[in-house]
Amino acid sequence: MNSSKENFNNIKVLIIGSGIIGKFNALELSSQGFTTTIVDDSESANSSNAALGMLMGEIYQKRHGRSWELRKESIKMWPKWIKKLNQINPKLYIEKPFIQLTTSEKKFEKLKNFATKNSEGNLQLVYKSSEILHSINKIFGTKKFQGLISYKDGRINPKLLLETVDLYLKKNKVNIQKNKVTAIEKKANKWISILNSGDKLLSDILILCNSNDCLKLIAHKNSKIELQPVLGQAIEIHYENSDVNFLSLPKNFNIDGRNFIPLTENRIIIGSTDEYNIIPKKEKISELIEFLDETPIWLKKNNIHKKWYGIRSKPRGEPSPILKTLDQGLMICSGFYKNGILLAPACASWISKEIKNHI
Ligand SMILES: Cc1cc2nc3c(=O)[nH]c(=O)nc-3n(C[C@H](O)[C@H](O)[C@H](O)COP(=O)(O)OP(=O)(O)OC[C@H]3O[C@@H](n4cnc5c(N)ncnc54)[C@H](O)[C@@H]3O)c2cc1C
Repeated sequence: MNSSKENFNNIKVLIIGSGIIGKFNALELSSQGFTTTIVDDSESANSSNAALGMLMGEIYQKRHGRSWELRKESIKMWPKWIKKLNQINPKLYIEKPFIQLTTSEKKFEKLKNFATKNSEGNLQLVYKSSEILHSINKIFGTKKFQGLISYKDGRINPKLLLETVDLYLKKNKVNIQKNKVTAIEKKANKWISILNSGDKLLSDILILCNSNDCLKLIAHKNSKIELQPVLGQAIEIHYENSDVNFLSLPKNFNIDGRNFIPLTENRIIIGSTDEYNIIPKKEKISELIEFLDETPIWLKKNNIHKKWYGIRSKPRGEPSPILKTLDQGLMICSGFYKNGILLAPACASWISKEIKNHI
């Protein structure tokens, strides 16, 4: 195959799965000129549509290995992606900083050590007396919080992000097919994807971005890849009372693993649970709201206005995510588990380099 850039449009790429990973890959490759198709039958139920959009790259304490390299790359690339996506939607941005809080002295000691070791100026400790905690302490009715601010981390509105990418894909003439791939096979250096409808899609390159379900398509390949579904639930609290104004809180923060995103004066999102299951458990919702000695009245179950969940894929026996070549012309981008939104730029960068080995 001729690999000069002008001829990329002769190369047909099929991406299975239209979550954030499939979409970022499609945007990257279509921008380079590849003739790109995405196929997905139930996009609205995927985990990308359930995500909260936290971009927590710097604040994760593991600062070595492949996952740190990918996080580092993504942190660096996000501003470029925002600039590109702003051509379509100037309203898309990353709301910074990100605040991580804890009520545990032990966890705060760990955060302190982490901040001291990584003192490049992007992290700042938050002590119990910090002014930034004023509204949080008032609304949560406690003075036990302390933690860390990460000025490089933040949040992107995931719905706006996905909508903007969709518009860009349309502009790039990416073909989007609403269908399910039931099997894949290779014939004469081409990949054939068999659809639920019975139709077949032919491509030079096939990229599996279909999370847990990619295993069904590669079962015959003895790939040794193992994934487990991890369900995450999130809730929206609706509480109308002039004493509580969620907009007085920081724009996004985390308390002992729970993310908080104030939406309006009386609505706030909280997420998410970790459930090694594919059916959401009602009792797991308690973990999102019952974590203080005294639960504030607005944080009670009867104020839950909305609930939703998504199923992430977590690799077994190897780190997250899985970015691999499985065969000539066949690549997999799966197992993003908790931070697929954060890592989407690094994944698109990997695919754009890796694809050159296949053409
Ligand atoms: C409640 C919750 C909150 C989260 N919050 C964050 C966050 O704040 N920050 C962050 O970075 N990450 C977050 N995540 C994780 C993030 O959502 C995932 O890592 C990311 O969405 C994974 O994207 P994906 O494209 O790999 O998978 P998905 O979005 O699940 O997409 C996979 C797609 O493949 C399609 N598909 C499957 N099989 C087939 C087939 N055979 N044929 C065609 N299509 C197929 C599915 O329909 C689906 O649309 C959160 C997840 C949850 C559940």
